[in-house]
Amino acid sequence: MLKATCHCGNVEIAVPELPGHLVQCTCSLCRRYGALWGYYTRAQAQVSYDPGSVTAYAWNDKVIEFYHCKTCGCLTHYEGIEKTPEDRISINFRMFSPDVYSELTVRTFDGADTWKFID
Ligand SMILES: [Zn+2]
Repeated sequence: MLKATCHCGNVEIAVPELPGHLVQCTCSLCRRYGALWGYYTRAQAQVSYDPGSVTAYAWNDKVIEFYHCKTCGCLTHYEGIEKTPEDRISINFRMFSPDVYSELTVRTFDGADTWKFID
């Protein structure tokens, strides 16, 4: 297991292994966050926090929720409003030490326009 937390330690993240690559997205939200996404299923990745200690931001068609720690503000993950074990959860690898993911390729997804990888 690879483990990380938000800055204050409230949100704990555990994933079984590194993803094949990380993704930076050009959409209007991700470019502001500066997040590096690693994708898992909800069955694979564990994200835990005290009830009520995070806030979720949904925009546009509101099918995706971006989760932030209410104490330190860190963006830890996003997931769809559907929450079965098979549904995707996207972990913000900025929560991990850079040593953990420094070897990984970072792909750029053009979420602002074409919805294709542009690397
Ligand atoms: Zn926090």
